[in-house]
Amino acid sequence: KQQMARGLPKQKPITGVKQVIVVASGKGGVGKSTTAVNLALGLMAIDRSKSVGLLDSDVYGPSIPKLMNLKGNPELNNRMIPLINYGVPCMSMGFLVEDASPIVWRGLMVMSAIERLVRQVDWGSLDYLVVDMPPGTGDVQLSITQNIPIAGAVIVSTPQDVALLDARRGAEMFKKVNVPVLGLVQNMSVFQCPNCHHQTHIFGSNGARQLAETIGVRFLGDIPLHLNIREMSDKGQPIVVSSPDSSEVSATAVVRKLP
Ligand code: ADP
Repeated sequence: KQQMARGLPKQKPITGVKQVIVVASGKGGVGKSTTAVNLALGLMAIDRSKSVGLLDSDVYGPSIPKLMNLKGNPELNNRMIPLINYGVPCMSMGFLVEDASPIVWRGLMVMSAIERLVRQVDWGSLDYLVVDMPPGTGDVQLSITQNIPIAGAVIVSTPQDVALLDARRGAEMFKKVNVPVLGLVQNMSVFQCPNCHHQTHIFGSNGARQLAETIGVRFLGDIPLHLNIREMSDKGQPIVVSSPDSSEVSATAVVRKLP
């Protein structure tokens, strides 16, 4: 009722999906997709009875196919069947376009692609759908937050000022559209030299932790800048599944802090 009063479109749940968690960032390149993937796998890792799906809503720069080592055609008749790896069904624009072909679309085409990804995919039954959002606070983000009931948003930022500024904008957007911000993840927080073990805060230290305090959202944890995370991501073997016991796997720790 409140939404109708404010003129927002009526929200409709995604068929079969109990809770939608969006992973967002203000800027690109801060590790949002990597975090989304590891969050989905982390959710499953801490409770094997839960079913978790992953939706890549970054139509311009879909990275889930590579991160989840998936390729193939999800189309079946008029529906789309998610492709599955590591037990997680995934859907991405990347499955529907050629690898190197640029996506040169006007806003309306992007919106209809999003509509398809959101409404025409057969997820079966999912406890959680983790949505990897495009960076920023544009049309796609607004339309997703207005059209689907969202349990909460996880915001990823590096400790760097420019990233934090945009992360703050992201948090404000979610507040405006009444999506609870579950918390802030500080990615690439520290680099430890593998030889001398000296620690360097390449992007500054603790910026995201401070921002979380300032804007009154939960701080979900630090993820270090680590060679393994980058290498395993590039191989399509997310760190939560490839080295579940390593110290750099803070993703499961992050999941445990989710409200
Ligand atoms: P975004 O989704 O914000 O654009 P990505 O998740 O694609 O960012 O990450 C950008 C790049 O940084 C990728 O090459 C990824 O492997 C790398 N990366 C992300 N997080 C880390 C980390 N904690 N340590 C090392 N490399 C990382």
